[in-house]
Amino acid sequence: MADSKIALITGANRGIGKEILISLSNDGFTVIGTSRSQQGIDDVNNVLKSTNGSGCGVIFDVTDKNAVSTLNEKITSEYGKVSVLVNNAGITMDNLLIRMSDKEWDEVIDTNLTSIYRITKEFVKDMMKERYGRVINIGSVVGVSGNAGQTNYSSTKSALLGFTKSLAKEVASRNITVNTISPGFIDTDMTKKLKDSQKDMLVKSIPLGRMGLASELANVVGFLASDKASYITGENINVNGGLYM
Ligand code: NDP
Repeated sequence: MADSKIALITGANRGIGKEILISLSNDGFTVIGTSRSQQGIDDVNNVLKSTNGSGCGVIFDVTDKNAVSTLNEKITSEYGKVSVLVNNAGITMDNLLIRMSDKEWDEVIDTNLTSIYRITKEFVKDMMKERYGRVINIGSVVGVSGNAGQTNYSSTKSALLGFTKSLAKEVASRNITVNTISPGFIDTDMTKKLKDSQKDMLVKSIPLGRMGLASELANVVGFLASDKASYITGENINVNGGLYM
């Protein structure tokens, strides 16, 4: 384990990110949780208060190229070097390919993929100097299975698998592990957009017979961030109730 237990989670104010915040805070990490809004930051700070945890919320848009080094400087000066990076923030803008606009393509690629290139590059440099680190990417079942109406989104999540394996090979000698967790359908704002009829059909195709809880994802992040996962790298862990095996 690193001397400093400092975790950074992108998109920590709600959904899966919020449960990861609770889990890592309960495990004794100082956690920096990002959101794009002041309300989101207040929510992160309230969660940290409720867990008696240390850390704080920071406003950060993952698509803002220039904000990444500022974020690192702020965390380093106030808390120390980040040892666990959780790339969680993500969006969907679904459409069939023939109807997809450039905006829908570009925004999803930029938010879900290019941001991870930039953020990971910034923080992994410090991990290399510290000779310790954990990078945990949140992918998706549709990155392995594909899904009609999600060519943009599933492309980003498939790409994460290649990114994860390649980076894992680059940094393994510095005691840094890089893994992806690919959730199935988890009950958050992202899936609230689905119609009830769509949800019913989906649930029927899940062997465990229900949507997942964000906390069930967070448990796996907690494991990968811990010393118990010290020999796992370049992996994709499916957490999908058996939807895709
Ligand atoms: P939510 O829609 O509930 O939350 C999304 C989070 O991402 C919010 O905290 C949001 O912040 C943040 N975010 C979005 N865009 C940006 C941005 N440009 N900059 C910074 N933060 C941003 O999503 P989930 O919790 O459901 O999803 C979390 C991750 O899990 C995503 O990567 C998603 O693709 C993945 N996933 C989710 C599944 C599900 O069924 N829910 C299934 C498979 C994968 P803000 O509140 O400030 O907008």
